[in-house]
Amino acid sequence: MTETEAADVTPNTVDENLTFADLGLDDRLLRGLAKLNFTKPTPVQAKSIPLALSGKDVLAKARTGSGKTAAFMLPLIHKILAVKDSLPANAPEATATRGLVLVPTVELAGQVTAFTNNILLFCGRAVSVLNIAGKQNDQVQQPLLATQPDIIVSTPSRILAQLKLNAVDLKTHFQTLVIDEADLVCNYDYEEDVKELLTFLPKIFQSFLMSATLGDDVDSLKQLVLRSPAILKMEDKTMDSTWDNLKQLYTICNETDKYLILYVLLKLKLLKGKCIIFVNDIERCYRLKLFLEQFSIPSVVLNSELPLNSRVHIVEEFNKGVYDYMIATDEGGLKGEKEEDSATQDIEAADSNEGEEEEGDKSKEDEEDKDEDEDDDIPEGDLEMEFDGSEGEDLDGSDDEMEAMMKTSDNEGEGDEADAMAEMQGTSAKSTDSKKRKQPEEESTKPEPESSTPTKSKKKNGPKKDQEYGVSRGIDFVNVAAVINFDFPPTAKSYTHRVGRTARGGQMGTSLSFVVTAEEKEKSLKASQIHGGGGWNNTQGDDEAVFNRVVKQQEVSGCTINPYTIPMQQLAGFRYRMDDAMRAVTKASIREARLKELKSEMLNSEKLRAHFEDKPKDLEFLRHDKTLHPTRVQPHMKHVPGYMMPKVQAVSSQKIGEIPEGLGQVMYNKKTQNSVRKARQGKGGNKGSGGKKNDPLKKFSFGSGGGNKGYKGKRQKTA
Ligand code: AMP
Repeated sequence: MTETEAADVTPNTVDENLTFADLGLDDRLLRGLAKLNFTKPTPVQAKSIPLALSGKDVLAKARTGSGKTAAFMLPLIHKILAVKDSLPANAPEATATRGLVLVPTVELAGQVTAFTNNILLFCGRAVSVLNIAGKQNDQVQQPLLATQPDIIVSTPSRILAQLKLNAVDLKTHFQTLVIDEADLVCNYDYEEDVKELLTFLPKIFQSFLMSATLGDDVDSLKQLVLRSPAILKMEDKTMDSTWDNLKQLYTICNETDKYLILYVLLKLKLLKGKCIIFVNDIERCYRLKLFLEQFSIPSVVLNSELPLNSRVHIVEEFNKGVYDYMIATDEGGLKGEKEEDSATQDIEAADSNEGEEEEGDKSKEDEEDKDEDEDDDIPEGDLEMEFDGSEGEDLDGSDDEMEAMMKTSDNEGEGDEADAMAEMQGTSAKSTDSKKRKQPEEESTKPEPESSTPTKSKKKNGPKKDQEYGVSRGIDFVNVAAVINFDFPPTAKSYTHRVGRTARGGQMGTSLSFVVTAEEKEKSLKASQIHGGGGWNNTQGDDEAVFNRVVKQQEVSGCTINPYTIPMQQLAGFRYRMDDAMRAVTKASIREARLKELKSEMLNSEKLRAHFEDKPKDLEFLRHDKTLHPTRVQPHMKHVPGYMMPKVQAVSSQKIGEIPEGLGQVMYNKKTQNSVRKARQGKGGNKGSGGKKNDPLKKFSFGSGGGNKGYKGKRQKTA
């Protein structure tokens, strides 16, 4: 499809007085929207809903946070309600799947489904939605599919697997296909699945394609699914994640100092509020968690190795304010995200033009021809992997089994136990999902076996990490005060996605990125060889090169990344403690912790599975941030004596230029059971409880700190 240039570019603003009712939506949906407190449509909603209701295919460049889910879901449901209203009561054709929403990750599938259920609040039983992305057991899934839910949410591979098994009919009354986060769908190599599943759809249906970019990466999908689409290029600025509200900071340091700085920032509460700390692999997740545990700083980890139910619950609880610090990997979400060269990135940033292009060139030229072509394109052979439905049946979570699982995850081994664990987790690792997926470079996981035989022996290479896991994209984190790139992201694109988890919903947010220069990386590597352990170093990527690209990209968008200067000499007292903590956290202890966590999350996951069915109360007592400490925690490390207090500038969320200087008050935020309970009940709970009377952390001074002059090519090194 060739996109015609916008003839009349319309501004990305919405008439102040425009309401959802003006868009002609069904009353039941309007009531659902009112219940959600959605008073006005966002730009992407205001523009796409009328086009969609008029029957047009829509291609929208819109990011998470722009309100894109409602933009496609409202017209999709509206159309279903209209059809059902027009049918006589009990008409057999009232029961049919009419909408399919394809998403790249199971997390996103859960989020889209939850949102849809909220919107459907006043639709009674008229419309149902089924999420099949995370469930792997056909015996559970197929009866649900047999009820012919009105809307199915899935990853492309999962629905394709069910279509091939004739578990669902999308031909007879099908109306709407949505591909959400289409660029990521492409990066996950799902195009072949999409292509194949189109053969199960009727010739005429309406399509929506929502994508963060409209570049070459989504070209093939555009051509596959869209016909003369209306093209919406929404501004990069999302409705609730504005770059104006985001204070971006960086600090140049070495690998060891990252730990020191983070320890000081968290211990002294120089970073207030909920914080997501990104690292680049799972081992580093646990290393950092154990390190922080040495100072009695609790944190929760989120990575692709954890069972899906646990991941969903962790995000829910984090959003409620139960945990302050989340250490996350985004390896799944970055899958296949190629690093663009700077030129491409420039174009991409410049592509934040607002506006709308009507009538892109026809993409589905001739449906009949396309169908024929597809038959030719689809590789021969059945690529499904089937499982025998023995979910969790023969596992007791013994250490051996967990070891096997982790080995597979680490690509150090493979085994049946590990595969069975995958089933127990309900992750897609053991998926019926087909074909090779691009693996993130750092994982270099073996391709999934291509087999249609449901035997475990054929699943040997099944990786334990969830191939459809994604944190930095799509997930709607709530009230995140700060994002820390503890490990600098491997691509400029992933930087954007990571920092986009804060400064949402009109709130202020801060990102702080640790950048280790090539020279420092080299030095740390050499030092680690001398001292016999490189585990503390992030050896992946070229921080400096990616950072330079990020800076350029931000400049094009009119944003600056400012240096955060830390007087390192003032942290000398903390350095001894850091050394102590590092000594305590050994490779063996990390491995043990990871095992322990997995084991406990498997149990959690089983409880959660039950919860999701019928026992919500049980959940209140499930915590994911329990200390793992396989190594001894020294009690004195919990507190910081007054003489150690440094003068360090707080990493606050004020706008640039509004950073407070001079004396500051820091609340000692010791959480009581009550505050946790309140958080769980959705009553906030991160306000600090006032703290102990004589706690040295209660008051301390922080200095004017370093300059806040913005990145000007030559960076300052932390003192
Ligand atoms: P999305 O881009 O679909 O992930 O939506 C981002 C966030 O915006 C979600 O928390 C939605 O619930 C919220 N949202 C979507 N549309 C609206 C609206 N019209 N008014 C207020 N909030 C909205």
